[in-house]
Amino acid sequence: MLEQLKEKVLHIAKKAVDVGLVHERAGNFSAIDRQSGLVAITPSGIPREILDVDGICIVDLDGKLVEGHYKPSSETPMHTCIFKALPWVQGVVHTHSVFATSFAASGKSIPAVTNEMVRFGGEIPLAPYQIPGSLELGTTAVPFLEKHLAVLLEHHGVLTVGESLDEAFMNAVAVEDVAKIAVYSTIIGGPKPLTAEEIDGIKEYKRAAARKG
Ligand SMILES: [Zn+2]
Repeated sequence: MLEQLKEKVLHIAKKAVDVGLVHERAGNFSAIDRQSGLVAITPSGIPREILDVDGICIVDLDGKLVEGHYKPSSETPMHTCIFKALPWVQGVVHTHSVFATSFAASGKSIPAVTNEMVRFGGEIPLAPYQIPGSLELGTTAVPFLEKHLAVLLEHHGVLTVGESLDEAFMNAVAVEDVAKIAVYSTIIGGPKPLTAEEIDGIKEYKRAAARKG
């Protein structure tokens, strides 16, 4: 069932280890088939090197296991909550990547330190603490994701979405990079965030370029 979707989730879960976003069995990754309303999601606690396509779980939007022999990720309620609330989202990535999570652990959002941040609507915001595995982790994150595509979960990690799982993954990599840049620039003497005018200027430039095609 939904073999291609499961292959995609497996591929991204392994890629996250390869690029150093997560280790071993950390992080959870999902993609939705909007036609059936079914979600392919990584299982709970299975090391990626032994995970194969049959190990990816299929759940419905209530989080009920439809297919698979492992327990779905403990963060399944957060993933399904996001898919329900944001119909344009096709993929969700959640990790505890070190630099982004350092901001979450400090109770700070990531400031708009590079022009790349414009795609995230400026800063990467911080959602208030919620218990891991709870539905509230999702409901609290949704309003931020709607505007920013990415959100830090206080004392926990980072969450990104996209119009595909590839895009959600790309966003997770970009957020980790920008968090790293923010930390390193603090060592150099402190980041100089883009001003609201500079952010608006980039947005306007991109809009004009898009109009010209
Ligand atoms: Zn987590």
